[in-house]
Order: sequence, then C-alpha cells, then structure tokens
Amino acid sequence: MHYRAVPDDRHGTFIGRHGGMKIDWDRRHCARRGHVTYAPDDSRLRLRLHAQTAVGDAWRCLRCGDFVLGEPHGSGPAAEAPLVPRGKVLRDLFILRFLAIERAVRGVFIVLVAVAVWKFSNSQDAVRRLFNEYLDVLRPVFRHFHYDLDNSPVVGTIQKTFGYKHSTLVLVAALLLAYALIELVEAVGLWYAKRWAEYLTVVATAAFLPLEIYELTEHVSGLKIATLILNILAVLYIAIAKRLFGLRGGRKAFEEERRSASLLEVEESAGLEVTAG
Ligand SMILES: [Zn+2]
Repeated sequence: MHYRAVPDDRHGTFIGRHGGMKIDWDRRHCARRGHVTYAPDDSRLRLRLHAQTAVGDAWRCLRCGDFVLGEPHGSGPAAEAPLVPRGKVLRDLFILRFLAIERAVRGVFIVLVAVAVWKFSNSQDAVRRLFNEYLDVLRPVFRHFHYDLDNSPVVGTIQKTFGYKHSTLVLVAALLLAYALIELVEAVGLWYAKRWAEYLTVVATAAFLPLEIYELTEHVSGLKIATLILNILAVLYIAIAKRLFGLRGGRKAFEEERRSASLLEVEESAGLEVTAG
C-alpha cells in the first residue's frame, strides 16, 4: 500500500510525444520491479524521506517518490544510497535496452546468415546439383502456368551465387560474422548502459550508414528504409542524450544530470536551502 507524496513531482511525470499521452516511466518501473527505499543516517534527510502513518513507518521510494509502508530496503550514509535511475535517465535506459534487443536480434540473424554462407561455400557443387534437379522437376509445372523459370530473376540470382568463388564466399561469411560480432557487443554494452558501448554504437552505426544508403540505391525495401531511419535516429539520440564527443557539456554534464535527478540529491539540496534561508 502506498500513496503519492508530491502530486506535481516534475521528475516523475513525462509527456510522451504521441498525442500528449503521459508516460510515467518511474511508476511503471516501480510497478514491475518494486520500490527502492533507503534510510540515510543524516537525520535531516531521514525526516524528509520518512513518514509515520497510522499503520506504521513509511519510506519514500527513491525512484517514484511514493511513500511505501514497511522497513527501508537499505540504510547508511546518504552518499552510499543506491543511485536509482529515474525520470529522463530511466527513460534513456529503456530506449537503450530497446536498441540493445534490436541489435541482439540483428546480430544473431546475421550469424545465422554467415553460417549459411560458409556451409554453402563448402558444398557449392552439391547444392548446385540439387538446385538444378529441382529446377528440372519444377520447370514443366511452372511452364504450365506460363512462367518461364529460366528467365526468372530469382532463379537467375541464385544461379549467379553458384558462380561465386569459394574464397569470395568465405570472405563474405567472415565479414558478416565480424559485423554480427560488433552488433552483439553493442547489444551487451547498451543493455548495461556502458559508455564505451554508446560510443561503439554511434561510431559503428554511422560508419555503416553510407553502405545502407548505397544498398537503397540498388534495391529499395521497407525493411531497409526502416533500418536506415532507426539507425540514423539511434546515432543522433545516443550522441545527444548521452552527451558523447563532448556534446552539451560531455561526460561531466551527463554525470551531473544523473546525480541531480536522484531523489536523495533533490531532497539534500532542498534541505540545504532550508538551512541557508
Ligand atoms: Zn517507487
């Protein structure tokens, strides 16, 4: 059981971009993972996070700001309180995790393609024979439906791959594997919100953008356009939101933002204002 302490807590509520729909990342996260309460040693700070209710002690959640009944999850010096991501910082974590999953899926898929290409390179002749046998069987069937298999672009493309040299195919498989590894490393790093992973993602993704654009000039598909747009947005978003390459004050400003968004910090500065006034 809990109740809202500060209805207009500006750190807790964010306006989504979709038609003004409100997305409360903090409360959604607390609903899934539970609240985080902490009893700091500093008695002034302690008072601000603690409430005596008719049914017992309540402590203010460091993420959503609600008072939660029961014992605090931790206690000690204020400086050792868990740094609970909340507000914009928490929203950024969600977006990074979405990108991490997207990259993991892409990475695994590309590994499978690389394995397929490598296997194909080892049994090119066998696959060619098999393919031609199927073609011989299917040719009359397709002819019945007035479809000329021998002039079909799909068949033509497949037959062209039979002409590729073994070494070319192995090289393609190796390049695909290398690309997949980058994607998977990005995925793990982004999931844990590592700063090196954000740099890697921005640099590697930006490096592949010209190739993606070139691909589009060769053949346009919805998936390719969606991937290109997602990658451009990811590069811009991570670089700007995470203040990479010294953008918007760089790492120092990013750490400050993270700290200042923590509820304990908010309470601390509020307490200082009281003593100063
Ligand atoms: Zn909470």
